[in-house]
Amino acid sequence: MVPSFSYIRARSLDEAIRYLSLDGARVHAGGTDLLGCLRDRVFDAATVVSIAGIRKLRGIEATPAGGLRIGALTTIAEVARNPVIRSKYRALSMAASEVASPQLRNQGTIGGNLCQKPRCWYYRGEFHCLRKGGDQCYAVEGENQYHCIFGGDNCFIVHPSDTAPALAALQASVAIAGPNGRRSVAVENFLMPPSRDFTRETVLEPAEIVTDIVLPAPAEGLRSSYRKVRARRAWDFALAGVALAVVFTGDQAADSRVVLSGAAPVPWRCPEAEEIVKGSRLERDRVVKAAAAAVKNAEPMEQNEYKIPLFRGLIEQQLTAIGQPEAR
Ligand SMILES: Cc1cc2nc3c(=O)[nH]c(=O)nc-3n(C[C@H](O)[C@H](O)[C@H](O)COP(=O)(O)OP(=O)(O)OC[C@H]3O[C@@H](n4cnc5c(N)ncnc54)[C@H](O)[C@@H]3O)c2cc1C
Ligand code: SF4
Repeated sequence: MVPSFSYIRARSLDEAIRYLSLDGARVHAGGTDLLGCLRDRVFDAATVVSIAGIRKLRGIEATPAGGLRIGALTTIAEVARNPVIRSKYRALSMAASEVASPQLRNQGTIGGNLCQKPRCWYYRGEFHCLRKGGDQCYAVEGENQYHCIFGGDNCFIVHPSDTAPALAALQASVAIAGPNGRRSVAVENFLMPPSRDFTRETVLEPAEIVTDIVLPAPAEGLRSSYRKVRARRAWDFALAGVALAVVFTGDQAADSRVVLSGAAPVPWRCPEAEEIVKGSRLERDRVVKAAAAAVKNAEPMEQNEYKIPLFRGLIEQQLTAIGQPEAR
């Protein structure tokens, strides 16, 4: 049963920020993650502040700099089917199409997708683990087949969002409003690694709200993609995923970003692989080398070593595909 709380429908951003400054207040966007967390007592809320009525947080529009602004309340389904995103930021539309089920994509928002809580089954269950303020991580000695192979430190979640790695590959930023004004943070720096703070998932300070996601103008020759492997052919979170953003000059890769999902507590960039890709025509030997470099420093847990060859194969497959003329 969902415990009781006060519910406020904010009419403006300022009003939402004011109410969110109350102790124990939480943002409610589409509610697909928040309500499950409250029902399962993952955390409590004294006040739930709905931002759903703040119209300026919705919609997709061009920016004066030639990029795209996506309001935080834009649904994942809208992001997936938007024609500009489909043609210019393909990785994002592919990632959004892979999120959950049609019902959840129609209700869940892009802002909520970035801010959602981890899916570690101990965290979602009745275990008072480190991330919930306890004194141990149950995944270390427990069932860890779906946990991370990079960046675990003391908490071994994988970041659950499909859109976050695509946004990181496309060099998007997050616009934030709060009691101390507005700021902007690169998506890559928006999500909190456990080595910095294992009790938080994002860099949001109390009462801060994500207002928009901003994509830069796509570079000339940019091709991007996202592919996710899951355990079932129904809705599921990524076992392994890869977002690519490669800028081509002719058939040569002038620049590249390789970002993994299902690998680490945050979308995981692979700088060594990116370096190997740069300047290549994505020939077979370069692709094989890049994929090997991407997993070289993996630190698997007892039950998730299978992720290493899975990522290797996936990266090889996707780098090869993005080099083909039909990926343009
Ligand atoms: C069965 C199931 C399967 C799923 N599968 C996938 C999947 O395959 N891939 C994937 O990426 N996701 C998946 N998800 C997660 C889903 O995409 C998220 O629940 C959804 O995107 C959250 O959006 P929302 O608007 O409903 O957020 P809410 O549930 O309203 O909020 C989620 C969290 O973010 C905070 N929040 C929301 N909006 C803001 C904002 N603008 N500013 C600050 N904080 C905010 C809330 O306080 C809350 O903590 C799945 C979820 C479910 C229930
Ligand atoms: S991986 Fe993180 S969330 Fe899961 S049990 Fe360990 S500390 Fe908790």
